Parts: sequence; structure tokens; C-alpha cells
Amino acid sequence: MTMQEFQEQFGTEEACREYLYKKRWPNGFVCPKCGHSEHFNIKSRNRYQCKACGHQTTVTAGTVMEKTRTPLTKWFAAMYLVSEDKRGLSAMALQKKIGVAYFTAWTMLQKIRFAMGNRDEKYMLDGIVEMDEGFFGGTAEGSNRGRGTEKTAVLVSVSLSEWGKPKFARMQTLKSVDGKAVKAFSEEHVKPGSEIRTDGLNIYNCLAKEGFIHTAIPYNAKKQPEHLHLTHIIISNAKAFVQGTFHGLDEKHLQRYLNEFCYRLNRRYIAHDLFSHLAHACALAPPKPYHALIG
Ligand SMILES: [Zn+2]
Repeated sequence: MTMQEFQEQFGTEEACREYLYKKRWPNGFVCPKCGHSEHFNIKSRNRYQCKACGHQTTVTAGTVMEKTRTPLTKWFAAMYLVSEDKRGLSAMALQKKIGVAYFTAWTMLQKIRFAMGNRDEKYMLDGIVEMDEGFFGGTAEGSNRGRGTEKTAVLVSVSLSEWGKPKFARMQTLKSVDGKAVKAFSEEHVKPGSEIRTDGLNIYNCLAKEGFIHTAIPYNAKKQPEHLHLTHIIISNAKAFVQGTFHGLDEKHLQRYLNEFCYRLNRRYIAHDLFSHLAHACALAPPKPYHALIG
């Protein structure tokens, strides 16, 4: 979508509202409280009131845009700019481009990244899946000067296409790198019966018991350069993405930047149409209030 096409389609509050309305109620209005379909339009306040129970709702209620005081045109512009900028859009850049406060731009981007992760949670990794741990952030390699300088462990998992290309990737920050974390992640994100390839670390020993085909090959770059090769490339690309655009980022926000990296990777073949996918994801993702973003 070109900038001009975007402006034509999403240039007014009414157009943005109509888009959200159609995403939320593709078969016509349904009261979120009682399921009744007859309603009043309270045009002056952009609300819909159920004729049966009197409940009032809006097109943004129940989405990441819930209770926003930012015009919808700016939200859609943010989604458009994010989808157009492959290297990742900083809050500073967004602030200038759409004319909002830094805090507002930062919050919008975090909510958009949350919606990206929420969307990807609907898919499971399957087939041949590589799994490895990566360590993000921190200061110098091996530095051990207490909190703030430590690296964050991330479990990285990639399913492979039949041509050996990355099909779908997921990354999750871990509190501790152990078998319990591997088990929880695999149960949630990998289809039973898939083959999971890992290195020889014992945290992966649980996988065979959990109904996966587990192929563990102790890592040796010289003897088996192809083993987990793809995952290693993806980890290093993700580090470059996170560090390049968002240097100095807080560990507690890392997950959402990883969401964005994976979301883009998983949709790289439809990157020309990323905006419509992202708008769909934001229209359907649940709310993520500010206190939940920083908590
Ligand atoms: Zn109702």
C-alpha cells in the first residue's frame, strides 16, 4: 500500500472507526455483554448502546486501543509506518512523524508489538523445529557486575520449511534456563510429534518424554556447521535488530521487541501487505494497559 492509498483509506476518524467496526463485528453488531444484536448508535460519542441490556461499547473497547485519547488516524498511521519500516521504528521517530508526545509514541509502539506477539501465539511450530538459547543485552561479554549488566536468556525456536528455510519463529525471554522452561515453552508452542533439534545441553532432555522426537547433537561448529545454523543466524539478526534501533532498552521490554522481530520474519513473504495484517492484529488483540506494559 502506498502512502497515498493509505491516506485515502484511513485519512479520517470515520474511516478508521468503520474498519475497526467491521473487524470487530463482521456479521453485524453483537453486544459484548449479552449477545443481543439490536442497538442504538450514539453518534455524538461514537458509542453503541445495546437495546436489550443498555451496555455501551466502542470499536476500540477490548482491543489494544481501548480507552485511547489518541485519534484513530494516528494509530493507523503508526501501524502503517511500523509496517513500512523494516528496521524497526523508534518512539523518537514515530513521535516526530505523527505529532504526539514521546510517551504516547512509546506506549503505542509497545501496544503494537504486544499485538504482534498476540497474533503469533495463534500458531504452533511444527514439522522440523530447531531450538536453542540466546543471550541478549547486557554489557561486555562475561561481565558479572550485578543487575543491569546481565544478559537476558531467550529461548529461540524456528520451524523449517521443506526447503530448509525458516517457516515460523518464536522467541521467549526466560527467567532461568532450565528444563522446566523448555517443557513449558514446547507444550505451548510446538505441535506434539514434531522433531525438535537441539544441542547437547541437558535442559532439552525432557523433550522426548513430552511427546516430541528429540534430536540432540552436541554443538561443534567445525564438524557440523549446518547444525542449528539457521537458528544461530536468526539469533544474531534478532540481536542486531534489537540493538541497532532500540539500544539501551530495558530487559522487561525485550519480549515485545522479540515479538516484532519474529512477526516480521514470519511474514517476510507478505511484507508488501504487512499493514493490513498488522491493523487486523491490533483490531483483535486484547487490551494491554500502560501499567501492564511497565510492570
Ligand atoms: Zn446487551
